[in-house]
Amino acid sequence: MYTFIKKQDPKIEEILRGEEKRQREGLELIPSENYVSRAVKEAMASSLTNKYSEGYPGRRYYGGQEFTDQVETLAIERAKKLFGAKYANVQPLGGANANIAMYFALLEPGDTVLGMDLSHGGHLTHGHPVTYITKIFNFIRYKMKDVETGEIDYAEMRKVAKKIKPKIILAGFSAYPRELNYKKFVSIAREVGALAVMDAAHIAGLIAGKAAKNPFDYGFDIITTTTHKTLRGPRGGLILIRKDEELAKKINKAVFPGFQGGPHMHQIAAKAVAFGEALRPSFKKYAKQIIKNTHAMEKVFKGHKARMLTGGSDNHLILLDGWKSFGVSGGEAEKLLDRAGITLNKNAIADDTRKPMDPSGIRFGTPAMTTRGFKEKEVARVAEIMIEVLTARTDAAVAKAKKEIKKLALSHPIPESFK
Ligand SMILES: *Cc1c(COP(=O)(O)O)cnc(C)c1O
Repeated sequence: MYTFIKKQDPKIEEILRGEEKRQREGLELIPSENYVSRAVKEAMASSLTNKYSEGYPGRRYYGGQEFTDQVETLAIERAKKLFGAKYANVQPLGGANANIAMYFALLEPGDTVLGMDLSHGGHLTHGHPVTYITKIFNFIRYKMKDVETGEIDYAEMRKVAKKIKPKIILAGFSAYPRELNYKKFVSIAREVGALAVMDAAHIAGLIAGKAAKNPFDYGFDIITTTTHKTLRGPRGGLILIRKDEELAKKINKAVFPGFQGGPHMHQIAAKAVAFGEALRPSFKKYAKQIIKNTHAMEKVFKGHKARMLTGGSDNHLILLDGWKSFGVSGGEAEKLLDRAGITLNKNAIADDTRKPMDPSGIRFGTPAMTTRGFKEKEVARVAEIMIEVLTARTDAAVAKAKKEIKKLALSHPIPESFK
């Protein structure tokens, strides 16, 4: 790799090699990250990056679309099959873009969305005041009833929905370790005449691999997602429409020309490759193992009486209250573990008593480790190492952990092929 960059631009080559080494020797526990296959990387590095293809297959604004039409059609067909959707748009450049296009497709300025509170696990794009989208649409939030079990307050959600009449009831999260009661979401949405939309950015791979429930099986109208988290594809977004043709038309118009310009065809080709991988039986095994691994880590933290938000996890991530469990703030825990070769992120927890820049929690997960072939035994050891570092907080403990983490990582190299 990097033959040409090396000759032409050694500075960049050095940086790329540094990042390769960091990924190889450290352990990635950020739950929204993963390693893609060489096949996905080859598609991303292909000449499709040279091509303008504004429009959709068969209806483009430029000539020369013989191959772009084929690749986008394949990506769409595979995405539909993977999620049981009748329509799919594979052009969103990322998860945030997918959500913004979805809002513009379904709402008029001033319309209301009922979405998960950010501090209870929702995402910035679900109406955080720092995002510009809140200047246009009105976001009202729902929360958990009990942060120790993770149960959403559906009675309150219904009461609020009846009062504010949202156009969209939005499910989905970036820091919530439990499955949602999709049936309740849909019944409340139907009752108040709202659309039920799921932002599955984090768990799309679990849904595709049938290790988590599919919101479409419960009547959700739309799923938005990223393609680069548990789904293990290139960075990008995806919008799926269960069955309504009018909705699909609105979504397509909103993505292009409403919001984006020319689609990134090399990324779309890479999405098609990743969807192809996710359609294979081996991906089902991968998705199942992600959850088995989370449970193995959960068991270790439970054994140490650590406080996990919602009491544990049903999916790929754990939200640990480091402050209450070990007397370590999220920021300090992130730094300590980073020095030991474990990458994860500090995270605010529900009803956090600390400040957002140094909150109480850390968030971590198993998708990337599982891609490396880690099983229950290895991830349980990682959890123990984390506890050792967070308890001792000495240079000696960090150095010892670092050595063991590097050994664990190097004995489980990032696989090149995901056949
Ligand atoms: C990651 C994420 C997004 C945003 O994805 P980007 O590709 O970073 O724009 C949107 N929604 C949720 C729930 C996410 O977790």
